[in-house]
Amino acid sequence: MLIGAHVSTAGGASKAIGRAEEIGAECMQIFASSPRAWKVPPMAESEVEKFKAESERAGMGPTVVHGKYLCAIGSPDPELVEKSVAALTAELQTATQLGALGVIFHPASHRGQGFEAALPQFTDSMKRILDDVPGETLLMLETSAGSGDHIGSKFNELAQIIRSVDDPRVAVCLDTQHVWAAGYNIADSGGLEETIKEFDSEIGLDLLRSVHANDSKRELGSSVDRHDNIGEGLIGSDGFKNIMGHSAFADVPFYLEVPGFEKKGPDAPNVEALKKIRG
Ligand SMILES: [Zn+2]
Ligand SMILES: [Zn+2]
Repeated sequence: MLIGAHVSTAGGASKAIGRAEEIGAECMQIFASSPRAWKVPPMAESEVEKFKAESERAGMGPTVVHGKYLCAIGSPDPELVEKSVAALTAELQTATQLGALGVIFHPASHRGQGFEAALPQFTDSMKRILDDVPGETLLMLETSAGSGDHIGSKFNELAQIIRSVDDPRVAVCLDTQHVWAAGYNIADSGGLEETIKEFDSEIGLDLLRSVHANDSKRELGSSVDRHDNIGEGLIGSDGFKNIMGHSAFADVPFYLEVPGFEKKGPDAPNVEALKKIRG
């Protein structure tokens, strides 16, 4: 189990590796471009080479790319779906160039049309993205907290999407805060066992390829997406001891997306906290 964090790519993707090293991360998550703009400029070949050389030097990896928060391939607005498909395709392209494990993206909201209605276009969109970018880089659906009309707060919804897309490159990123907010009590050993059982029967544990390791500011089942520093939230250090001790997570990389003790994002104390729990 490797412990990593989301880090900034300011100044170029290759700069992220030094930042990850500085906080003690063993693997990292990055954005392919600004998460708040639609444009995904192609990465220069020279930057890709620098990135690979730096990753190799630092022994950093696997790297994952987080998709834009703007994307919503389950939306009833065709223009938004097209923009989302284009962005995710470009992000998968960048991830492939960088030799990343995959792109993690939010299923986002169906915006009132209902999951069943959104499923065909969601499936079609994922197929188009995968078809446009050959290779082995994964497209990972992230579990959601379940606020509003968000897709993916129940493992069964992700399972339906996965079956419908039917591609070996589709996998899942489990966000500890999101599943907690969605009502899965992973802090408790019985609750975790039930959660893992449900994940395995609905999705299959072999598709669990990454974890977003975040404590929670909000209570179990709140449906609210609010990350906290490890040990400061309601999942707590004991909760993470429970999670990290489970065999289902033994070979899965963990990526922190916490606010940070100085509110500057994932930091050394959070990485250290997870490492201590891992033992
Ligand atoms: Zn995410
Ligand atoms: Zn979140």
